[in-house]
Amino acid sequence: MNGQSKDIEKAILDTDIELLELFQKRHELMLDKPESFNMTDHFKRLEQLAGELGSREGMEALLNLTAESKGKTPLLVSRSTKATDTVVRVGDVSIGEGSPVHIFGPCAVESFDQVATVAEHMKSKGFDILRGGAFKPRTSPYEFQGLGKEGLEILLKIKETYNLKVISEIVAPEHVKLAEPYLDMFQIGARNMQNFELLKAVGRSDKPVFLKRGLSATIEEFMMAAEYILSEGNSNVILCERGIRTYEKMTRNTLDISAVPLLKQKTHLPVMVDVTHSTGVKEIMADCANAALAAGADGIMAEVHPDPVNALSDQAQQMTLEEFDKFHQNIS
Ligand code: PEP
Ligand code: MN
Repeated sequence: MNGQSKDIEKAILDTDIELLELFQKRHELMLDKPESFNMTDHFKRLEQLAGELGSREGMEALLNLTAESKGKTPLLVSRSTKATDTVVRVGDVSIGEGSPVHIFGPCAVESFDQVATVAEHMKSKGFDILRGGAFKPRTSPYEFQGLGKEGLEILLKIKETYNLKVISEIVAPEHVKLAEPYLDMFQIGARNMQNFELLKAVGRSDKPVFLKRGLSATIEEFMMAAEYILSEGNSNVILCERGIRTYEKMTRNTLDISAVPLLKQKTHLPVMVDVTHSTGVKEIMADCANAALAAGADGIMAEVHPDPVNALSDQAQQMTLEEFDKFHQNIS
């Protein structure tokens, strides 16, 4: 090797050392304070740095190190990353701070008057957050799909009229921008738990996200779905157990009560339980809500409709206002 190419080689090596140091520094910083990193950007940057290396071996070594670190890095949702409970603030309402916060309201937004009847009732009972679906992901395409933007407008009017916080499901990434001005919290439904583009899109927002467990999702898959949101920078996530599919037919789904203490132990996020979709049986909703609260749930979600028999969705399982009062009296 002549003198000139030796110089070039040394120059490359020097640059590589600089890059290597940068890489290591970033990696160590992340290991030290993973919660303050946007993990998606972090890994992208590491791969980019590796790609800039002069030597092919060096680049491969760094890419391997990055891949290994991806596997070893504790999840952002995990208690080992953050030991203290995350408290999700929805305006002046705190979820996950100790005393349970419940979310009630109709399955779907059908009209201003229909939602207002429930809103007025909830306000008079001292509840702060109202639910109602503007976009309804229905099993059949011929069933009521929700009022869409008009539903969001109704929710905003309800929010202003009754001084309540409102939450509604969004089903597509473009709904984030559309719904942001109307809602206090986004809901991601069971059917969309693994709609990764939607998860990433809400992850880039700073609005709280109410993430429901998928119909047949394992607890690990549920945690990974939440990880998608946190990895984009949004840690205001509430996990909701809403029942899973089993062979049992007496209930709509099977409420997996074990998910509550498991999620509380394994993650630092608030955990809530939807007793409407998990059971589908009004007579057992109060008992299941009590079981959920005893297991450590941070709150309960349930559906209430002024006239469930004529509701445009979930007629069989939404409580009337009278049924709700009884339910409410029976939960601790
Ligand atoms: C809902 O809460 O309106 C709903 C559709 O529930 P899930 O996504 O849990 O089926
Ligand atoms: Mn419903």
